[in-house]
Amino acid sequence: MRIFLTLAAFFFAAPAMAEHHEAAPVTPVTIVIHGGAGALAPGRYSPEEEAAFRAKLNEALDAGYAVLESGGAALDAVEAAIVLMEDAPMFNAGKGAVFTRKGKNELDSSIMDGATLNAGAVAGVTRVKNPIKLARAVMEKSDHVMFARDGAEKFARENGLELVKPSYFKTEHRWKAYKRALKAEKENQKDAALFHDFKYGTVGAVALDAEGNLAAGTSTGGMMMKRYGRVGDTPIIGAGTFADNKSCAVSSTGWGEYFIRLTIARDICAQVEYQGKTVEEAADDVIHHRLQDMGADGGVIVLAPDGSYAMTFNSKGMFRGVKNAEEQIIAIYGEEE
Ligand code: ASP
Repeated sequence: MRIFLTLAAFFFAAPAMAEHHEAAPVTPVTIVIHGGAGALAPGRYSPEEEAAFRAKLNEALDAGYAVLESGGAALDAVEAAIVLMEDAPMFNAGKGAVFTRKGKNELDSSIMDGATLNAGAVAGVTRVKNPIKLARAVMEKSDHVMFARDGAEKFARENGLELVKPSYFKTEHRWKAYKRALKAEKENQKDAALFHDFKYGTVGAVALDAEGNLAAGTSTGGMMMKRYGRVGDTPIIGAGTFADNKSCAVSSTGWGEYFIRLTIARDICAQVEYQGKTVEEAADDVIHHRLQDMGADGGVIVLAPDGSYAMTFNSKGMFRGVKNAEEQIIAIYGEEE
């Protein structure tokens, strides 16, 4: 009898034991980044310049992925990748930002936590070295979502963020582009802010961490020749940035006015949440139909809680990259992946 009971206990317990040893589902930690969309066709950059872009995108992917791989939070991964691109002079964010019509650099940024729907944003800052860090401080250390201009800088100072002279952001190639735009404006009697045959250059990242949390962040110098305190989509939650663990995380780049009017980031996540679309289908609808139909251009990176992602744009190209356990991809032009 005792043997029977022991055997019975063993057989009944066996499936439970087997279950116990089954590996828990592993979240496919992933980071996706962009360095701006726009008129990017092969030949636009010299091989050296192109290699430098690709190397910097790889570096940003590695920095973000290292955070995720060691069990760090999606928010930290997003911040790490964006800080690297803000510090790189080739992107239109942080150092290397484009100039306003008055020859200034005015920076916008935002970040969002998909687990809590907390968000932080800053607009029109001129002295904060890494606007993405300030956006995060707004999210975590204030009761508000967005600070602008002087108030944002006061908050940065109070929270110990690194401040720099406005001249820190200036680069020769952006200054030359600004001078060219001024000249073209005079000659053509046309508002140079409306010349859209350039690349946007905003930077952004979306990440999924081992806990299954999503985060998104975006940072920019805005559109070249912008004027009178213009604020684009980048610091607008739901336009330039959105993250919700229930649907997806999005970071945008493109003609900001249209991204605001179409609430692009939120629309993509809403289509995923309410219509059951994949991130690819939702991004395709919003970029290739809604944005396209209004005659505007740009792109998005989108990441879902299951690790599926989209890098969708209707401009000629978009600096972009993705890294997960299986792949590390960097691409610039259309049809490259
Ligand atoms: N979306 C940005 C803006 O309108 C520009 C960019 O993507 O580079 O400010």
